[in-house]
Amino acid sequence: MPVQLFGRRQVTDIIEIPERSGTAFRLAKGETLIVIDPRGEQVADLLAFNAADVDEVISSGRTLDYAEHIYLTKGDKLYSNRSNVMLDIVEDVVGRHDFLLTPCSFDTFKHFYPDLEPHRGCFGNLAEALDPYGIGADRIPVAFNCFMNVPVDGASGRLRVLPPISKAGDHIALRAEMDLIIGLTACSAPDSNGGTFKPIHYRIEPAQTR
Ligand SMILES: [Zn+2]
Repeated sequence: MPVQLFGRRQVTDIIEIPERSGTAFRLAKGETLIVIDPRGEQVADLLAFNAADVDEVISSGRTLDYAEHIYLTKGDKLYSNRSNVMLDIVEDVVGRHDFLLTPCSFDTFKHFYPDLEPHRGCFGNLAEALDPYGIGADRIPVAFNCFMNVPVDGASGRLRVLPPISKAGDHIALRAEMDLIIGLTACSAPDSNGGTFKPIHYRIEPAQTR
């Protein structure tokens, strides 16, 4: 079901990220990235780098510091390590995403799923996708984990990873506030995705012209 977010804008084609994989692409200032969970209960890890200087990168610490809360949603902004706004959350029908935890990886699989065959996870998928942009694996920070449901006990600080609350077709839309290189995955970790692996869809809305 296509969602017409911006009445006068032309909607671009939906692109699918197959299950347990990732991609990277450019997102120009003013363009809006719509990340869609087509089947429900599927996480998408999102990274952003300044396209003109990849030493500037999305920062969980800066963002949570300025937001003063951890459950980011419409109206919140995602900041870089240099305190510049990279992305502005302009739509969000889910309201539960995570910005605390690192992308799942070969090592996190060994830690949390010792009985399963380890998978390179979002980390490995992002590293491969970002390599053509000159971004090495050691530069991958905490990702903004679209649809990831990580409730925190307010008294003890204990984290849990529960199935996403996103339903089929739910989306979050983020507008670029600078020219960006985006990394985006369909997450590979069982617990983060309700025990099954699904694709992620995305599309890009052009910058609004007036
Ligand atoms: Zn993952």
